[in-house]
Formats: sequence, structure tokens, C-alpha cells
Amino acid sequence: MTTPTTSRATGPVPVAIAGAGPVGLATALGLARAGVRSIVMEKKARLDPHSRATVILPRTLEIFRQWDVLDPLLERGNRVPHVRLREPDDDHQILHIDFTKLVDDTAAMFALAIPQDRTERVLVDAVEATGLVDVRFDTEVLAVEQDSAGVRLRSRTGGTDRSETVDYLVAADGARSTIRGEIGVELVGRTYPTRAMLADVRIAPELDRTDEWPTLLAHRGIVVGIRFGDRVWRIIEQAADETLDGPAVHDHIVALAEELFGAGPVEVIWHSVYRKHERRAPRFRYGRVLLAGDAAHLNSPAGGQGMNSGIQDAHNLAWKLAAAVRDPGAHADALLESYSEERTSLVGRFVQPMTDVLERFQTARPHRRIVLTRALEAFVGMGRSSGTLTRRFSMLDVRYGPSRLLSGHGVGRRVPDAVTDDGRRLYGAMPSGAILWAGEENAAKALASSLGLPAVHADLAALTRFFDREEYVALVRPDHIVGAVADPATLEHEQFAAAMGR
Ligand SMILES: Cc1cc2nc3c(=O)[nH]c(=O)nc-3n(C[C@H](O)[C@H](O)[C@H](O)COP(=O)(O)OP(=O)(O)OC[C@H]3O[C@@H](n4cnc5c(N)ncnc54)[C@H](O)[C@@H]3O)c2cc1C
Repeated sequence: MTTPTTSRATGPVPVAIAGAGPVGLATALGLARAGVRSIVMEKKARLDPHSRATVILPRTLEIFRQWDVLDPLLERGNRVPHVRLREPDDDHQILHIDFTKLVDDTAAMFALAIPQDRTERVLVDAVEATGLVDVRFDTEVLAVEQDSAGVRLRSRTGGTDRSETVDYLVAADGARSTIRGEIGVELVGRTYPTRAMLADVRIAPELDRTDEWPTLLAHRGIVVGIRFGDRVWRIIEQAADETLDGPAVHDHIVALAEELFGAGPVEVIWHSVYRKHERRAPRFRYGRVLLAGDAAHLNSPAGGQGMNSGIQDAHNLAWKLAAAVRDPGAHADALLESYSEERTSLVGRFVQPMTDVLERFQTARPHRRIVLTRALEAFVGMGRSSGTLTRRFSMLDVRYGPSRLLSGHGVGRRVPDAVTDDGRRLYGAMPSGAILWAGEENAAKALASSLGLPAVHADLAALTRFFDREEYVALVRPDHIVGAVADPATLEHEQFAAAMGR
């Protein structure tokens, strides 16, 4: 017999999350910020101590700012305003991404180089501080069954098995997801022929002299150094030599470090050889089970988009799941189905093609790279606008296709975090969504009041360009996505309510 789960607070806990990786923890944090309790079950006894994903991109930094967890990450990471790939001591650059040019679009005009274990530490501390999340380490989810009333879980802590029932289960249990196996879902796609070699090294103080990313081009695949700070660097070799073994691997890492940074003592702190995939589940929702992060899709680390896109899954999901928990009526289905529709199409149309071009570019022999540079340019449309590559790489260029919540012209796009007339940022005025308006105010205010959202006057040139009109009323969802937009004279309340899943 199973019992509903209770946590420190009284009453049943509606959501269980399998996995305390960055995506499970981000989902718990997003739910807690919306006032919803959850349990996080993690099979390891403690957080994983390894550095793994290295870079948090601007779009993810915006999300962390919204969830009030950005400052501790900034304290522990190294800001990267530019990514310039070029050989040491060579002025010719093959790729330049200048995040400072994003000033009209985001407050996060940089990426953050930070080891994944530090990111997870900050997230788990934030999650526990909410008092709404019960994080259980050493707890493995073993079996899952669902019906229209709920999800029954069997888990094991130490040697003790336990069964409990929740309304929803988020499978954030990584690439080898137990839950995906339990519900009979496989990731579809391919595995790349090369493996990446990742190594964290500590170098001599006199060689630790730049925040730019030195690059070696004359290799089997590109080799890049990324600075974490305090003399510690990540070396990524996109096409590792798999014939190397034992001490030869150590010697190879030291040789790469000397080529990247100059001759001097090198301490190899950690290294790993990493199989790269491009795979995803056909859907991210199966009844009351939601897949997120690596459990839902795997990407090559070449674009640095793996962990980032998983956290962005959590951002799309958290407000919808919170709304479904609060009002389990007819609209819950549309909310959760829209998560699957929006994220599968975005991962398939943007994240994976971008990552694939970057993967091929970074693993190509030098003479092929010129051809692949053109493919990269064609994909991101650099000919149309020099900022497009930077926006795509930053993951700010979010454009969802149609879903149960999104229909009509001009919806599904991330609204820019524009600078307001008083020098602040727009997102600060709408921590969980808003009605934005310019022009006639009465219709916007009545709509905002009926939806329980703030009405934000935003008569800004950046938004006039974005909405392509002088007067507008727009619904911005809690995940910064335009849900509906209309002229003040013709807006229909039902259309706006439906875009919030009401
Ligand atoms: C060696 C290595 C290097 C990487 N380098 C990069 C990189 O440079 N750039 C990049 O973008 N990405 C990189 N990645 C990928 C990145 O780490 C993942 O994309 C990211 O961790 C995904 O987060 P997640 O929360 O979805 O899954 P995970 O981080 O895998 O977390 C899943 C968690 O679920 C737990 N779990 C599994 N099964 C169960 C169960 N049955 N019950 C309870 N808990 C369970 C696991 O213990 C784990 O803690 C790397 C990964 C590895 C392994």
C-alpha cells in the first residue's frame, strides 16, 4: 500500500523530482519560487564533485537572476565578456563572440565560467533555504507507475524501500534515466564518432595572464582553454586521441597546456574522456511524468548548450507545473502538454542544429574548417546581422513554435530585457510575468487586473521594434515569453487567459 508523501510542512507534497543535478535542482527552485513544494530524490550520497559543464550562458544567467540565485554564482565564477578563438600569439581570430554587444537585449552581457559542482552547490543551498524542498540524498528511484490519479514511486534509501504517491514526477535523472526506462521511452538520434577529452589543470602564476580562451587549431580537432580563475583552467580537446592510455594521457594534457599557456609546471587536477551524442525523446511529457535535461535530450558539449538547455527546460516547466498543481482542472493538461511541444521543437530546431554545426566545426581537420565556417554562418544568418551568432550562442534567441498555449502572430518569442527610461531593466518590473502596454491604458489595466498580473507601461523604442507597432498590449509569461499580443482597441480577454493556460 502506498501513502501520499508529506514533507516538513504539513499536507501532501505534489511534485517529486528524480535527480539533484543542475536540472532537478533548478526545477525545485523554480517551483519553490512559485510557492510549490517538492521532494528531490538523488541516488548519490552527496553532490557530484566533478567540474563537467563549464559555462553558464547569458540566457541561463537571466533565469538565475529571476530566481534570485545569480549573486552567489557570480562570486564563485569568472565572467567572460568575449569568446575569441585564436591561436596563442596569433592575431587572426576564427570566431569572436562579443557578449557586451547584447546591451539592448539583456543585463547578462557575459557568460560565466564556473565548474558544475560549484553551480550545483549554490543551487542546493538556495533550494534548501526556501524551506519548501525536501532534498533526499542516497535515495534512488527504483520503479514508477502512473494512472489518472497520480504517480506511485518506489525508492530506496540505504537498505530501506519506500513507496509514496505524488501528483507529478519530473525525471531529471540524467542521460541514463531510470524513469525513462520505466515508462518505456528511448532517446532517438546519433552518437558522434569522436570523443571529447576534458582536463582541469593548474598552471604557474606567470602564465595565468589572460581571460581570453587560447585555441589550438592545427590539431585533429580544436583545443580550447577556458579560465575558471586562480590559475585553474579547463582544457577541452574536441577530438581526443583514443589510443592514448595511462601516463601517456597525463603527458598529452601537459603538452597541450604548454602549447596553450606556455612552458611551465602543470598540475593535472581531473580529466575525463566524454562520449558525445545528439539524441532526444520524442516527447517530454508522458501523462504525469515530465522529462527534463539530459533525461530528455543529449547534446555535444561543443556549443556549451547541454546543461544550459536543461535549465531552460526547467524554466519553461516550473511555472506551468506550479499552475497545474494549484488548479488541477481542465487547463492542467494544456499547460503540461505545451511544455512538451515548446521544448521538443526548440531543442530540435535550434539547440541541436546549432550544436551540430559547432561540433562538426570543432572536430574538423584544419582544411575543412573554412567550409564549415560558411555552414556556421549560413545557419546563424551572420550575413543578415553580425549580432545573430552572439544571440544564438547566448541562447537569447528563443522562438517557440505553436503549442496548446501559443498561437497567432508574434507570440513564442523571448521579450528583450530592455533598458527602461529610468535606466533599470524591464525584467525587474515583471518577476513573474506581466501585461506590457504602450498607447491606450484602460484596456491593458483591466486585462492585467482580470489576470492578476502587474500592468507595466513600456513605451520603449526597443519594444516598438520588437512588437513592430507603436501601440500594443502584450502578455509576457513568467518565463519571459510573449504569450499574446494585440492592439489595445481589439484585444480579447479569452485569448490572453488561454495563453496563461486559464
Ligand atoms: C564528464 C562530463 C563532462 C561534461 N562536460 C560538459 C561540458 O563541458 N559542457 C556541457 O554543456 N555539458 C557537459 N556535460 C554534460 C552536463 O554535465 C549535463 O548536460 C548536465 O549535467 C545535465 O544535467 P541534468 O541535471 O539533466 O543531469 P545530471 O547532471 O546527469 O544529473 C542527474 C542526477 O540524477 C541522479 N540519478 C540518476 N538516476 C537516479 C535515480 N534512479 N534516482 C535518483 N537519482 C538518480 C544522478 O546521480 C545525477 O546526480 C558533461 C558531462 C560529463 C559526465
